[in-house]
Amino acid sequence: MKPYEILLKGNKVWAGNKLIEDPDYFDRLSQLQTPEFLWIGCSDSRVPANEITGTQPGEIFVHRNVANLVVNTDVNLLAVLDYAVTHLKVKHVIICGHYGCGGIKAAATKTDFKPVLNMWLRNIKDVIRHHIEELTNIEDEEQRSDRLVELNVQEQVYNLAKTTIIQRCWKEEQRPDLHGWVYGLKDGIIKPVFEMKAGTQIDALYEYDNL
Ligand SMILES: [Zn+2]
Repeated sequence: MKPYEILLKGNKVWAGNKLIEDPDYFDRLSQLQTPEFLWIGCSDSRVPANEITGTQPGEIFVHRNVANLVVNTDVNLLAVLDYAVTHLKVKHVIICGHYGCGGIKAAATKTDFKPVLNMWLRNIKDVIRHHIEELTNIEDEEQRSDRLVELNVQEQVYNLAKTTIIQRCWKEEQRPDLHGWVYGLKDGIIKPVFEMKAGTQIDALYEYDNL
Protein backbone atom coordinates (compact mmCIF):
# COMPACT_ATOMS: atom_id res chain seq x y z
CA MET A 1 0.00 0.00 0.00
CA LYS A 2 1.32 3.44 -0.93
CA PRO A 3 1.70 5.99 1.91
CA TYR A 4 -1.18 8.16 0.67
CA GLU A 5 -3.43 5.10 0.33
CA ILE A 6 -2.95 4.54 4.07
CA LEU A 7 -4.58 7.95 4.59
CA LEU A 8 -7.62 6.99 2.50
CA LYS A 9 -7.93 3.68 4.33
CA GLY A 10 -7.63 5.50 7.66
CA ASN A 11 -10.39 7.85 6.56
CA LYS A 12 -12.79 4.95 5.85
CA VAL A 13 -12.10 3.44 9.27
CA TRP A 14 -12.61 6.84 10.95
CA ALA A 15 -15.89 7.54 9.11
CA GLY A 16 -17.16 4.04 9.94
CA ASN A 17 -16.34 4.46 13.63
CA LYS A 18 -18.06 7.86 13.76
CA LEU A 19 -21.25 6.32 12.35
CA ILE A 20 -21.15 3.52 14.90
CA GLU A 21 -20.91 6.11 17.72
CA ASP A 22 -23.53 8.43 16.24
CA PRO A 23 -25.54 7.46 13.11
CA ASP A 24 -26.60 11.11 12.51
CA TYR A 25 -23.09 12.52 12.88
CA PHE A 26 -22.42 13.46 9.24
CA ASP A 27 -26.04 14.41 8.48
CA ARG A 28 -25.95 16.91 11.32
CA LEU A 29 -22.50 18.33 10.54
CA SER A 30 -23.26 18.71 6.83
CA GLN A 31 -26.24 20.94 7.64
CA LEU A 32 -24.34 23.76 9.34
CA GLN A 33 -21.21 24.83 11.17
CA THR A 34 -21.44 27.19 14.16
CA PRO A 35 -17.92 27.30 15.58
CA GLU A 36 -17.33 29.61 18.52
CA PHE A 37 -13.59 29.86 17.86
CA LEU A 38 -11.22 30.92 15.10
CA TRP A 39 -7.80 29.29 15.48
CA ILE A 40 -4.76 30.81 13.80
CA GLY A 41 -1.96 28.34 14.34
CA CYS A 42 1.36 27.15 12.93
CA SER A 43 1.36 24.75 9.98
CA ASP A 44 3.66 22.44 11.98
CA SER A 45 2.25 18.90 11.72
CA ARG A 46 2.63 18.41 15.47
CA VAL A 47 0.11 21.09 16.42
CA PRO A 48 -3.33 19.97 15.16
CA ALA A 49 -5.97 22.36 16.56
CA ASN A 50 -8.80 19.89 17.19
CA GLU A 51 -6.67 17.12 18.62
CA ILE A 52 -4.74 19.18 21.19
CA THR A 53 -7.89 20.94 22.41
CA GLY A 54 -10.00 17.79 22.55
CA THR A 55 -12.56 19.30 20.17
CA GLN A 56 -14.54 17.80 17.31
CA PRO A 57 -15.05 18.79 13.66
CA GLY A 58 -17.44 21.75 13.61
CA GLU A 59 -16.11 23.38 16.78
CA ILE A 60 -13.10 25.37 15.55
CA PHE A 61 -12.63 27.36 12.32
CA VAL A 62 -8.96 26.97 11.42
CA HIS A 63 -6.27 28.90 9.59
CA ARG A 64 -2.65 27.80 9.72
CA ASN A 65 0.56 29.20 8.29
CA VAL A 66 4.28 29.11 9.06
CA ALA A 67 4.78 30.57 12.56
CA ASN A 68 1.12 31.65 12.95
CA LEU A 69 1.52 35.15 11.53
CA VAL A 70 -1.12 37.84 10.99
CA VAL A 71 0.20 39.82 8.03
CA ASN A 72 -1.92 42.77 6.96
CA THR A 73 -1.42 42.08 3.23
CA ASP A 74 -2.23 38.36 3.49
CA VAL A 75 -5.53 38.04 1.61
CA ASN A 76 -5.84 34.40 2.61
CA LEU A 77 -5.71 35.14 6.34
CA LEU A 78 -7.88 38.25 6.06
CA ALA A 79 -10.56 36.36 4.13
CA VAL A 80 -10.61 33.66 6.83
CA LEU A 81 -10.73 36.31 9.58
CA ASP A 82 -13.52 38.27 7.89
CA TYR A 83 -15.59 35.16 7.24
CA ALA A 84 -15.12 33.84 10.79
CA VAL A 85 -15.77 37.16 12.54
CA THR A 86 -18.40 38.79 10.31
CA HIS A 87 -20.34 35.75 9.09
CA LEU A 88 -19.74 32.85 11.48
CA LYS A 89 -19.71 35.35 14.37
CA VAL A 90 -17.01 33.62 16.41
CA LYS A 91 -16.64 34.82 19.99
CA HIS A 92 -12.93 34.12 20.34
CA VAL A 93 -9.92 34.33 18.05
CA ILE A 94 -6.94 32.31 19.21
CA ILE A 95 -3.38 32.77 17.97
CA CYS A 96 -1.56 29.59 18.95
CA GLY A 97 2.20 29.36 18.55
CA HIS A 98 4.39 26.57 19.85
CA TYR A 99 7.75 26.27 21.56
CA GLY A 100 10.46 24.88 19.27
CA CYS A 101 8.87 26.53 16.22
CA GLY A 102 11.10 26.06 13.16
CA GLY A 103 9.90 29.29 11.53
CA ILE A 104 10.76 31.31 14.62
CA LYS A 105 14.21 29.69 14.89
CA ALA A 106 14.90 30.27 11.19
CA ALA A 107 13.99 33.96 11.42
CA ALA A 108 16.51 34.42 14.23
CA THR A 109 19.40 33.26 11.98
CA LYS A 110 21.22 35.06 9.18
CA THR A 111 20.56 32.24 6.72
CA ASP A 112 19.21 33.11 3.27
CA PHE A 113 16.18 30.86 2.76
CA LYS A 114 15.58 32.34 -0.74
CA PRO A 115 12.91 34.87 -1.70
CA VAL A 116 9.57 33.46 -0.63
CA LEU A 117 10.59 32.19 2.80
CA ASN A 118 12.74 35.28 3.35
CA MET A 119 9.66 37.45 2.69
CA TRP A 120 7.60 35.54 5.20
CA LEU A 121 10.27 35.33 7.90
CA ARG A 122 10.97 39.07 7.62
CA ASN A 123 7.77 39.61 9.63
CA ILE A 124 9.33 37.69 12.53
CA LYS A 125 12.61 39.63 12.22
CA ASP A 126 10.50 42.75 12.80
CA VAL A 127 9.17 41.20 16.02
CA ILE A 128 12.77 40.57 17.10
CA ARG A 129 13.64 44.22 16.39
CA HIS A 130 10.73 45.44 18.55
CA HIS A 131 11.98 43.35 21.50
CA ILE A 132 15.71 43.26 20.82
CA GLU A 133 16.70 44.43 24.32
CA GLU A 134 14.74 41.77 26.17
CA LEU A 135 15.83 39.03 23.77
CA THR A 136 19.56 39.81 23.78
CA ASN A 137 19.52 39.68 27.58
CA ILE A 138 18.53 36.00 27.47
CA GLU A 139 21.76 34.02 27.20
CA ASP A 140 20.39 30.50 26.70
CA GLU A 141 19.53 30.00 23.03
CA GLU A 142 16.50 27.76 23.62
CA GLN A 143 15.07 30.09 26.26
CA ARG A 144 15.58 33.05 23.93
CA SER A 145 13.80 31.22 21.12
CA ASP A 146 10.95 30.24 23.46
CA ARG A 147 10.53 33.86 24.59
CA LEU A 148 10.47 34.96 20.94
CA VAL A 149 7.66 32.45 20.33
CA GLU A 150 5.67 34.15 23.13
CA LEU A 151 6.45 37.68 21.92
CA ASN A 152 5.52 36.70 18.37
CA VAL A 153 2.12 35.46 19.54
CA GLN A 154 1.60 38.74 21.39
CA GLU A 155 2.51 40.80 18.30
CA GLN A 156 0.13 38.76 16.15
CA VAL A 157 -2.70 39.47 18.61
CA TYR A 158 -1.88 43.19 18.26
CA ASN A 159 -1.91 42.75 14.47
CA LEU A 160 -5.45 41.32 14.71
CA ALA A 161 -6.58 44.32 16.75
CA LYS A 162 -5.16 46.67 14.11
CA THR A 163 -7.57 45.35 11.44
CA THR A 164 -10.87 47.07 10.65
CA ILE A 165 -12.47 43.62 10.72
CA ILE A 166 -11.79 43.30 14.46
CA GLN A 167 -12.27 46.98 15.31
CA ARG A 168 -15.68 47.14 13.61
CA CYS A 169 -16.88 43.99 15.40
CA TRP A 170 -15.59 45.27 18.75
CA LYS A 171 -17.49 48.51 18.25
CA GLU A 172 -20.75 46.96 17.09
CA GLU A 173 -20.94 43.64 18.94
CA GLN A 174 -18.32 43.66 21.74
CA ARG A 175 -16.69 40.51 20.42
CA PRO A 176 -14.44 38.63 19.74
CA ASP A 177 -11.92 38.35 22.54
CA LEU A 178 -8.38 37.78 21.27
CA HIS A 179 -6.15 35.15 22.87
CA GLY A 180 -2.43 34.45 22.53
CA TRP A 181 -1.45 30.90 23.42
CA VAL A 182 1.71 28.79 23.18
CA TYR A 183 1.64 25.01 22.91
CA GLY A 184 4.44 22.93 24.42
CA LEU A 185 5.64 20.14 22.13
CA LYS A 186 7.38 18.50 25.09
CA ASP A 187 4.38 18.25 27.43
CA GLY A 188 1.33 18.86 25.23
CA ILE A 189 0.17 21.73 27.43
CA ILE A 190 -1.11 25.06 26.09
CA LYS A 191 0.03 28.14 28.02
CA PRO A 192 -2.03 31.34 27.66
CA VAL A 193 0.50 34.19 27.36
CA PHE A 194 -1.51 37.20 26.25
CA GLU A 195 -5.13 38.36 25.96
CA MET A 196 -7.07 41.31 24.57
CA LYS A 197 -10.72 41.48 25.55
CA ALA A 198 -13.13 42.90 22.99
CA GLY A 199 -13.01 46.70 23.13
CA THR A 200 -9.49 46.98 24.58
CA GLN A 201 -7.93 50.37 23.90
CA ILE A 202 -5.18 50.07 21.31
CA ASP A 203 -2.43 52.44 20.16
CA ALA A 204 -4.32 55.44 18.72
CA LEU A 205 -2.13 55.32 15.64
CA TYR A 206 -3.91 52.15 14.53
CA GLU A 207 -7.46 53.20 15.49
CA TYR A 208 -10.14 53.92 12.88
CA ASP A 209 -12.90 56.30 13.93
CA ASN A 210 -15.23 56.08 10.92
CA LEU A 211 -15.94 52.33 11.04
ZN1 LIG B 1 5.89 26.36 14.02
